[in-house]
Amino acid sequence: MRELAATGFMSNCARQNVASFLTKNLGINWQMGVEWFESLLIDYDVRSNWGNWNYTTGIGNDARGFRYFNIIKQAKDYDPEGKYVKHWLPELAKVPTSKIHEPWKLLAVEQERFRVKIGIDYPQPIVNLWESVKENQKIYNAALKG
Ligand SMILES: Cc1cc2nc3c(=O)[nH]c(=O)nc-3n(C[C@H](O)[C@H](O)[C@H](O)COP(=O)(O)OP(=O)(O)OC[C@H]3O[C@@H](n4cnc5c(N)ncnc54)[C@H](O)[C@@H]3O)c2cc1C
Repeated sequence: MRELAATGFMSNCARQNVASFLTKNLGINWQMGVEWFESLLIDYDVRSNWGNWNYTTGIGNDARGFRYFNIIKQAKDYDPEGKYVKHWLPELAKVPTSKIHEPWKLLAVEQERFRVKIGIDYPQPIVNLWESVKENQKIYNAALKG
């Protein structure tokens, strides 16, 4: 999100992860995401933006049920050394590769050593990835039946 705010651009992969997290984890109305992207993207295009949000959220013509991105796996697959994360989150610069994608798991002693205090320099997780997906899937399935 910092990359988008600073440059007006994000890779397709990042956009898909953001759309999945906003809707499948946070359970926020996808149109909020559409409008945020619309306000910042330098390549904003009404069809690509609304169409891709529809698709990723699972409500478009090509809806494929409640699919979501495993964001931790995505981060490990596409940013294995954490270079992208460290570039945009310099507060995590000293965190080793093995913990870069899950900094909230750093022990107190590690936070001291790597000069980052979780909850102060970098936020605590705002949601549990796996529990939130289950909750939002229930809501999605109930809406389909209703
Ligand atoms: C939620 C979301 C919102 C998006 N909003 C926009 C938008 O407002 N404007 C926009 O141009 N693109 C949008 N995209 C599509 C895509 O992210 C960008 O076109 C792509 O990031 C451009 O990067 P690239 O040139 O490296 O693409 P590459 O991956 O190299 O692809 C080559 C070309 O194909 C096109 N393309 C690639 N992926 C997509 C895709 N998923 N949908 C449509 N065209 C694609 C682009 O024109 C791109 O220049 C959105 C994607 C998502 C998931």
